[in-house]
Amino acid sequence: THFGFKTVLQDEKEKLVHNVFSSVASSYDVMNDAMSFGIHRLWKDHFIKRLDAGMRPGGQPLQFLDVAGGTGDIAFGLLDHAAKNHKDTKSTMTIADINTDMLKEGQNRYSKSKFALENPSRIQFIEQNGEILDKVPDNSKDIYTIAFGIRNFTNIQAGLNAAFRVLKPGGIFACLEFSKVNNTILNSIYKNYSFTMIPLMGQLIANDRDSYQYLVESIEKFPSQENFSNMIRKAGFYVPDKGFENLTFGVAAIHIGVKV
Ligand code: SAM
Repeated sequence: THFGFKTVLQDEKEKLVHNVFSSVASSYDVMNDAMSFGIHRLWKDHFIKRLDAGMRPGGQPLQFLDVAGGTGDIAFGLLDHAAKNHKDTKSTMTIADINTDMLKEGQNRYSKSKFALENPSRIQFIEQNGEILDKVPDNSKDIYTIAFGIRNFTNIQAGLNAAFRVLKPGGIFACLEFSKVNNTILNSIYKNYSFTMIPLMGQLIANDRDSYQYLVESIEKFPSQENFSNMIRKAGFYVPDKGFENLTFGVAAIHIGVKV
């Protein structure tokens, strides 16, 4: 990174990502529903159920960290699950996102939610690059989640290393992200759909073709399930042999790692 060339490229990606999410912040939900036919909601629900997080009887409240938490879908879902399934209304949440506009949407939603009425300080919002997380102390979190965020990182490995650092020993890393479709025919249908329809929908629904073109390309560039598992291991996590779960033929995947 001492070479000017690389720094310029990294700056460019960061700026690009920033602009993309600033411009999609307000149309974000509508677009997600349109692009995925609403399936992203099922994936998120499944992710939350599978984690089954919440304070257990006799235990301590958990400290959640949702990185790239944006509008708060995952964070609210996790707290809701903890309350309904474990009667946990004490665990706290930090939402970290690099983008002020996405955080504002999240804060807006939070202020209108039941969580805020019960306890206005249960969720803390911080503006932070997930590759750095210097506002989050070492060994301080029980659960680190990231949904559809890590593929936007300039340096994914740095993000995974930061996740490892901030988790307590025994803490869980859980990632939901677009991934690679595991069937050749389905993959070609999917690629066709995403490369033609998504930018078009972006143009029609959000009047923003370029941002959605970027999203499609970022999905294409993201590592395969196996390679991503190895990156999680490289950060120091324990990942079982088949440490990922494919959703909808691998259009998305869940990866889990444990800090041992
Ligand atoms: N997790 C939310 C969800 O599932 O609905 C939001 C996902 S949204 C597709 C991606 C989010 O990642 C945006 O809010 C964006 O600002 C954030 N982001 C991108 N790069 C980031 C980085 N380096 N550090 C933290 N957040 C980042």
